[in-house]
Amino acid sequence: MDAISGLKKIAIIGGGPGGLTLARLLQLKGAKVNVYERDLNKNARVQGSPLDLHDESGLAAIIKANLLDEFKNNLLPGADRKKIVNERAEVFFSDHETKLEENFGSEYFRPEILRGTLRKIFLESLHPETVVWNSHFISMEKQDEGWLLHFKNENSAYADIVIGADGANSKIRPYITNIKALYSGIIMLEGNIYNAKNAAPKISALLNGGKIMAFGNKKNILMGQKGNDEIGFYASFKAIENWPANSGLDFSDKTQLLEWFKKEYFEWSSIWYELFENTTTPFIPRPIYCIPLDQTWEALPNLTMLGDAAHTIPPFAGEGANMAMLDALELSECLTSDKFDTVHEAISFYEINMRKRAAIAAKESLENGERMHSEKALNTMLGFFSAH
Ligand SMILES: Cc1cc2nc3c(=O)[nH]c(=O)nc-3n(C[C@H](O)[C@H](O)[C@H](O)COP(=O)(O)OP(=O)(O)OC[C@H]3O[C@@H](n4cnc5c(N)ncnc54)[C@H](O)[C@@H]3O)c2cc1C
Repeated sequence: MDAISGLKKIAIIGGGPGGLTLARLLQLKGAKVNVYERDLNKNARVQGSPLDLHDESGLAAIIKANLLDEFKNNLLPGADRKKIVNERAEVFFSDHETKLEENFGSEYFRPEILRGTLRKIFLESLHPETVVWNSHFISMEKQDEGWLLHFKNENSAYADIVIGADGANSKIRPYITNIKALYSGIIMLEGNIYNAKNAAPKISALLNGGKIMAFGNKKNILMGQKGNDEIGFYASFKAIENWPANSGLDFSDKTQLLEWFKKEYFEWSSIWYELFENTTTPFIPRPIYCIPLDQTWEALPNLTMLGDAAHTIPPFAGEGANMAMLDALELSECLTSDKFDTVHEAISFYEINMRKRAAIAAKESLENGERMHSEKALNTMLGFFSAH
């Protein structure tokens, strides 16, 4: 008998990569699960850079979820190829000629998939009505042995176990711990270009369907191919946490942002201007946060969390979504294992390992962030990639 047999209902708050992976894995074991997601419906556009899934985490979860074929049919071939360039866009490293398009089973193969496509694959694998859309969680209180959840649309729902998978600004997390993520000192200014072949031909040709990491003095530009001829890019630099408000910039004004770039990235060549002249949506400044590496708390009997809700990790090692999916894999195994007599024991075991893993990934990511924003970032990163 596993810890969750006999229980009526598990509620997962949030239908990101972590929450949906958990729902699928628990359903495969026969558990009764609902996902409460704030998006209005399944057609809501999921934004953000494509995700590269890693062999030991994201891909391991996909395989356990019996979704590898669907994943293979939908990945972005070649999007994991990269070039490392300097501020004048001179190429110092490229694996475009050497990298295999498919190499499943290799720890170095990190296939890319669009976030929206990954969500669709999971949604199609779940029982109908598993996801309750338009359910923006706002609060909960104890009821009987479980929790009564309240949503913005004034609906309520009861669950025996609640799992917070509601991302970096989790509303579930404060019910578990007061520990907050800390500002990393880095801002990533996001822009997106539609119809990139026409709108930004020089950059598009250089990108060639893969990724570019451009390193200058303490600053960089990171970009990657998305679907539908779209490019997503980030100008990434060190700044104070409230730079977005203090900068005086209107992020919907491309001209202002181009002038800002020319001033702040003054050593960079004019090829990059294409990005700022042709951004299709308003720029989004993203201050990057990280959990304290030593965070800890006492496990609760019927409430836990995973993914960014449990551990916001800076994106400099591409680990966040992978960790969220691995959390889901491990939590589902703990909850359905006959090793634990109670849900409390299962949660406690899961959380100890999850915190350890997340701290290692967060440290690695912070160190990468430092390398990528150092004075000699280009040389440091070239050395780093040739060693890995
Ligand atoms: C710039 C940038 C680049 C990144 N690149 C990568 C990468 O290449 N590889 C990688 O692995 N990771 C990357 N990450 C990190 C990755 O995006 C996250 O770690 C990952 O999305 C976390 O998954 P999650 O399921 O925990 O949370 P999320 O993806 O944040 O999903 C949370 C879900 O919960 C819903 N939700 C939120 N609040 C509520 C509420 N109150 N009620 C109901 N629903 C709610 C949201 O709508 C969302 O669907 C990047 C992050 C950033 C900022």
